Formats: sequence, C-alpha cells, structure tokens
Amino acid sequence: MADQANPFESLQTQIEAAAAYTDVSSDIIERLKHPERVLETNLSIELDDGTVGVFKAFRSQYNGDRGPYKGGIRYHPGVTRDEVKALSGWMAAKCAIVDIPYGGGKGGIEIDPGEHSESELERLTRAFATELRPLIGEDRDIPAPDVNTGQREMNWIKDTYETLEQTTAPGVITGKAIDSGGSEGRVEATGRSTMLAAREAFEWLGRDLADATVAVQGYGNAGATAARLIDEAGGTIVAASDSTGGIYDPAGFDAASAAEHKAETGTVVGYNDSEEITNEELLTLDVDLLVPAALENAINRSLAADVEADLIAEAANGPITPAADSVLTEKDVYVVPDILTNAGGVTVSYFEWVQNRQRFSWTEARVNDELERVITTAFDDLIEAFDATETPNLRTAAYVVAIERIVSAYDQGGNWP
Ligand code: NAD
Repeated sequence: MADQANPFESLQTQIEAAAAYTDVSSDIIERLKHPERVLETNLSIELDDGTVGVFKAFRSQYNGDRGPYKGGIRYHPGVTRDEVKALSGWMAAKCAIVDIPYGGGKGGIEIDPGEHSESELERLTRAFATELRPLIGEDRDIPAPDVNTGQREMNWIKDTYETLEQTTAPGVITGKAIDSGGSEGRVEATGRSTMLAAREAFEWLGRDLADATVAVQGYGNAGATAARLIDEAGGTIVAASDSTGGIYDPAGFDAASAAEHKAETGTVVGYNDSEEITNEELLTLDVDLLVPAALENAINRSLAADVEADLIAEAANGPITPAADSVLTEKDVYVVPDILTNAGGVTVSYFEWVQNRQRFSWTEARVNDELERVITTAFDDLIEAFDATETPNLRTAAYVVAIERIVSAYDQGGNWP
C-alpha cells in the first residue's frame, strides 16, 4: 500500500469538494470538518508475564446533530488519532446517506492483537470500556466492531458497562453475539450491502452483476462475505487477496470454499489451482468489478492510473486516496463510495439497537429485507443528487446528500450555547 494520505485530510478534502455543490455557508462547512470531541487515553493492563503494558487508545465523537454517535472500535498497530477522527467523520456521512438516526463515532487501540493472549485482550477491552463508560450509552454513543474486533470484544464491553452501571443495556453496543442481544444478519451485513450497492450500480449502468468478473482485495469479514454473496448472485470471482498475498483464476472460483481454505490455513494463497498474484496485480486486473475490502489508501494516484476495472465498490473505508479518486474520475471508472457501499454494517447495527430497545428480535429474512430497502433507497437518493448537482463523481454526490441532511438537523436545532 503506497501513498500514505493522511485519512483525516482525505475526509476534509472530500467534505470541501462536496461543499461547492451545496448552499451551505463556509462557517458551517468548517464546523463539519472537525470532530466534536476526541478521547485519547493510555490503557495500562497487567500482561501475562506480570509486567505492565501501556496501549494508546482513542474515541472520536464526530457529529451528534442527527442522533447518538455510532461507530466501530479497531485494534490495529496503525491506529492513530487522525485515523480515528477520519473514520468517525466517514461514519457521520455514512449514517446520513443511508438516513439512519445517528451521528458518527469511531474508536481504536494501537495494538497488534495477534501478539496478545485472549486474557490480555479481555483485560485491555475491559480497561477501554471503563474509560469509555462516561461517554457511551444507549442514547449517547454506541460502539461496534471494526478491523480485528468482533462479537467477543463487543460482549466484553457490554458486560463491563452493564456491571459498572448496575443495569442491563444491550443497546450500548452492537455487533454482539445473538445470545448477548446481537441481531441476525449482522455478521454478513457489510458484505451484503457491498453486493447490493454493486448490483444497483451495474443496473444503473445498464449492466448486470451476474455477468461481472470480480476481484476482491482483503478476504476478511467484509470482503469474503461480499465475494460469497456476489458469487451467489451469479457474478464470477476471479481474484482475492489478504495480507499474505493474492490468488487469481480467470475461470472463476467458489468464493465460499476459498474462505474455508483461508480459515483452515490462515491465507487465501494456495487455494485450488489458482495462480499466486500480488495485491498490486489484483488491484490492476482487467475485471468488471473491483472490491477493495482491506484498509485505507490501498489505491493511490499511480496505482489508479493502472486500474482496469469498470466499477469499484468500496467495501473498506477510505481505500482510494483523493488524488487517486481524481484519476479514476478522469478515466470514467465509477466508484460507489464507502459511505454507501459498506453501510450495511451500521444499518444492521441500527436494527440491532432498535431490537434491543424494543426487547424484540427480528428474523434474518426481515433484517435482510429491511437492509435491502435501506441500501436501494440510498442508492436512488445518491443518483438523484448526482443527476441534480452534476458533481464529477458519485462520492461527491454522496457527500452532498450527507452534508445537506446533517446541516438540516443542525439548522433545526440551532447553535447553543
Ligand atoms: P477483517 O479484519 O475481517 O478483514 C480484513 C482483511 O484484509 C483480512 O483478510 C486481511 O488479511 C486483509 N488485509 C490486510 N491488509 C491487507 C493488504 N495490505 N492487502 C490485502 N489484504 C489485506 O476486517 P473487516 O471487518 O472485513 O474490515 C475491512 C474493511 O471494511 C475496513 O476498512 C473496515 O473499516 C471496513 N468495514 C467493515 C465493517 C464490518 O462490519 N466488518 C463495516 C464497515 C466497514
């Protein structure tokens, strides 16, 4: 991954680019270019060998005009204050474009979880939950999983919060296991919205996802699920990669069994008769659809010049740098932006929260139907704005919709104190 664009600067560039297509005044746009608050804390826990480990952690609460802050918690050595701020801003825009009643938030701990035991990770997660306790709550800020966190961490955070508060509050966090108050359909929601967004985009272009060849960069939760659902919808998965390398088979392969191979061996490499390729080769394959589903800055300006896909559906957050975005726009490569493509995760998190508040569980079919309605409506809203504003690309149009919705709520509430 080259071109290490600062993700927070990327976010601010994206907001500025869209602002030019709105009637929102520059002072209000300036307000939208910064989070409302950021917690920075140093978590100290006892390690298994008896020594004390110190880990930097952040929680950014970006904008609360439309509802409680909402966003995941990431465990990764590359976590920084600016990355968390950017991710929280993207969450605010994401919740607005899919029109769910949340502001944006995001958290992270600078750690390589692979180097720690389960008991160390539990102590660390509970230490973070204790720091977060005054900030989070069912009506305040609702964290969720992100890279390298999942149901296990969410269950620990819920348990810590409920124990300290002496209550039950399953809606304080989403992405929980079903028996702890999780929702059907949550695990595969991000991959599902990626498939839906790609399907809608192909339809808009007068084409069919079922005829598409597809390359997926990052074969984790979002990427592998998107690949499986696209495969089930008739698309042909020809390439996949993870942090260890990539595979290519022009005839296409079974996405689910490639995921099983990765689960068994820890890598997609070596799956069946596939050819081994690098991540860079994967990103520049001549395919109909490219799905970046790993981390930020996967496609920089020089790599964008070599991209041959017709359509990109951003399952990851911020995989294309602003400079690369301009190159892709010039080349007429359509990009369905992350804030819509991967919004399935937060949308089903919202459904989980609604179910927790109602103490009533929905069936998986209901969750999937409601998710499809939300994503297809958001895509229609995006195209309506794209046509009406004549923005250069779909990302800018998505930010126009998001900014207008956030600013409308801000205007209605007014500025106080
Ligand atoms: P994950 O940890 O399950 O998977 C990430 C995958 O990317 C892994 O297979 C990893 O090996 C691979 N990877 C890491 N570095 C890579 C590299 N340099 N090249 C190729 N592959 C690489 O994480 P996830 O939950 O699937 O999240 C992936 C992206 O999707 C992130 O940007 C995340 O913010 C975004 N996202 C996830 C969700 C969700 O609900 N899981 C929701 C919204 C957005």
